[in-house]
Amino acid sequence: MACKKDHSKIQNQMRNLPYDQGGKGRHKCAACAYEQGFEDGRNLKENVDLDQILDSLDESQAKAQRHKSPHAAYAQGYYDGVVDYYNNKS
Ligand SMILES: [Zn+2]
Repeated sequence: MACKKDHSKIQNQMRNLPYDQGGKGRHKCAACAYEQGFEDGRNLKENVDLDQILDSLDESQAKAQRHKSPHAAYAQGYYDGVVDYYNNKS
């Protein structure tokens, strides 16, 4: 099923991701991968099963996340989530 979520807020982050040309990302939505990574990073989640995470995502849609690497998207999202965690720590 193709992703129908509104990813308009993270289009800038999507633009810088590498393209997935080998089909390794199984055509999963890179924007969903980013958001999942962000959430996990923010929670400093340490037990991450990327195979399972990517499998659970919807297929990619149009816009900047199309054909982008969901692996890179997750990693970037995770990093941004960790930064967000520290920025919001008081
Ligand atoms: Zn999506």
